[in-house]
Amino acid sequence: MTDVLDSLSLHSAPPALRTGPLADAQAQLATAIAALGYEPGLHQLLASPRREMTVSIPLRRDDGSVEVLTGHRVQHNFSRGPAKGGLRYSPTVDLDEVRALAMWMTWKCALLDVPYGGAKGGITIDPRRYSPDELQRVTRRYTTEILPIIGPDKDIPAPDVGTDEQTMAWMMDTYSVSSGYTVPGVVTGKPVSLGGSLGRASATSAGVVHIALAALEHRGLKRSASTAAVQGFGKVGADAALFLTEAGVKVVAVSDQYGGVHHPGGLDIRALQDHVATTGSVVGFPESEALGGEELLVLDVDLLIPAAVEGTLTGANAHHVRAKVVVEGANGPTTSEADRILTEAGVLVVPDILANAGGVIVSYFEWVQSNQAYWWTHAEVDARLETRMLQAWNRLLDVAATRQLTLREAATVTAVERVADAHRTRGLYP
Ligand code: GLU
Repeated sequence: MTDVLDSLSLHSAPPALRTGPLADAQAQLATAIAALGYEPGLHQLLASPRREMTVSIPLRRDDGSVEVLTGHRVQHNFSRGPAKGGLRYSPTVDLDEVRALAMWMTWKCALLDVPYGGAKGGITIDPRRYSPDELQRVTRRYTTEILPIIGPDKDIPAPDVGTDEQTMAWMMDTYSVSSGYTVPGVVTGKPVSLGGSLGRASATSAGVVHIALAALEHRGLKRSASTAAVQGFGKVGADAALFLTEAGVKVVAVSDQYGGVHHPGGLDIRALQDHVATTGSVVGFPESEALGGEELLVLDVDLLIPAAVEGTLTGANAHHVRAKVVVEGANGPTTSEADRILTEAGVLVVPDILANAGGVIVSYFEWVQSNQAYWWTHAEVDARLETRMLQAWNRLLDVAATRQLTLREAATVTAVERVADAHRTRGLYP
């Protein structure tokens, strides 16, 4: 009988994933569990999403034809509070990617001590191929489908790759119409005119730069003598590049999905932002040389900020990285193999769950302000964001030094411990 059960459980175990963001997230969790000495049951609990929903989204296109898209919402954990995390529109979205991103949100919220669990949503769609009206219909239908599992006390979506404050306004309106009254706290990253927070739009970039400057200093590098390369020129990368130059760091290269630009004397980031606003890409920016996106990763700079998507620093390119400090603006940009290579090479890698947490911190501020209907000034938001980021950075350095861990290990250990503590204190029901 035992044999039969053993073989059954063996056969029902999901096949182990060897590559991809979920494999990386699971490997990071396994390392933290080993460092904490937790039992297999608790490991399994923390490795498994608490709730997943996959929905079909029928869309009537502007030409009258109908196509059916697929969307997901994964709630990884809510031991510490409502689930929280962005909504991504990208052609590469799949359930495993959303699972990984949801797990990282759990650790990010725990590490920064914001009272949320982790979630993520995604729709497999290339938003550039759809009109604003079509995107509105997709967003409203998706919101309607996931309505039972979201809410200001349940799960609070926010923007991510391919979505923005307009997407959040449509979600908020759809949820509110179905509730019969306006519920601003159901999403964050809303337009300021609808109860969004001042400072939310640039919060992730601001947080990345607070941490980047602290990390340069930690490495003994003077910011006024430092150079940087930023991969990705979207919601995170564009303002991160701007804030870096304002802080005195010379940003010599940036890239987007179409290509990169390089100017050893330092790029004029405001002019570059204007160029992107008119042409849609950094490519062709005057006073710069063209650069392949991959070339940017291996430039001889002090600071590298991967702020595009997951899995861009890999076993194939990590050996060639010459930056002394890598600050992860994107979620999961460094594969497990690349992480090992960079660590062995003595590169200081500041993990995503700290480096890009500015977005969810100000999302939390937005939710607090919405729930109280009392609004803070831009300066208050910025100051509170900086304080939280730097406190978490200092605690992380302590944990890493005391427990002899890399920054990523120390961050994951700290976060996992907090989630596990909350879970144990609440107890297992029934
Ligand atoms: N999408 C952002 C992230 O990955 C923000 C999430 C949020 O504000 O809930 O951290």
